[in-house]
Amino acid sequence: MAKELVVPLVPGVWRIPLVRDLVNGFILRDDDGQVTLIDMGLSSSGPRVMAALGAIGAGPSDVTRLLLTHAHPDHAGGAAHVGRETGRGFTIHHDDAAYAAEGSAPPRDHTFLLGRLFDRFSRPGRDFEPVTVEHEMVDGEVLPIAGGLRVVHTPGHSPGHVSLLHEESRTLITGDAIFNVLGLRWSVRSFCTDFRMSQQTAHRLGELDYDLAAFTHGAELRNRPREAIRSFLLKHRTT
Ligand SMILES: [Zn+2]
Repeated sequence: MAKELVVPLVPGVWRIPLVRDLVNGFILRDDDGQVTLIDMGLSSSGPRVMAALGAIGAGPSDVTRLLLTHAHPDHAGGAAHVGRETGRGFTIHHDDAAYAAEGSAPPRDHTFLLGRLFDRFSRPGRDFEPVTVEHEMVDGEVLPIAGGLRVVHTPGHSPGHVSLLHEESRTLITGDAIFNVLGLRWSVRSFCTDFRMSQQTAHRLGELDYDLAAFTHGAELRNRPREAIRSFLLKHRTT
């Protein structure tokens, strides 16, 4: 059986499983047919993002906006390809914009040996192909996408990491603030700029209202996701 190109979440919102359920992108479609793509996976994922578009009956010319939750190679890796195919620039939080534009991941947490090691090998343009940044988003901004997409700044994983709340469909995209891989868990600490800050800012996700939680790493939670996230945050409280 062919691997599915898209997973419908709610009407007008799909998950793109780019590496099984381990690495995901997302599609939002407005009522008028305009399409927004969120996160483009690894450097090899670009064609798969474009194939996912076809799977919902859309094409490159329907894409009007491209978003990145943050400037890491497993999210921005396929971005340059998708940018070329659609002719569009990217929206990313102000604090990650310069990294996206030069193709480098933000600094890693030097509290951890691996974080220090990764940084030694990080050079501009070598983490992923640089992307064209068209708009720098900020916390609280409601992007004019599919009835409104709220930017929730959750820094720590990277300085400009964002989660995204689609208020109309009550769908939260956590980004890498929380993973759902073999259960809810924190992101990989040595990839974070400030792991502790990522734990602290993730608490913002417990305060939002949503009926579905989608993850950039892992499958979505459809059953009382807010309660699940709140109890995860409570159990893993950081002071
Ligand atoms: Zn990341």
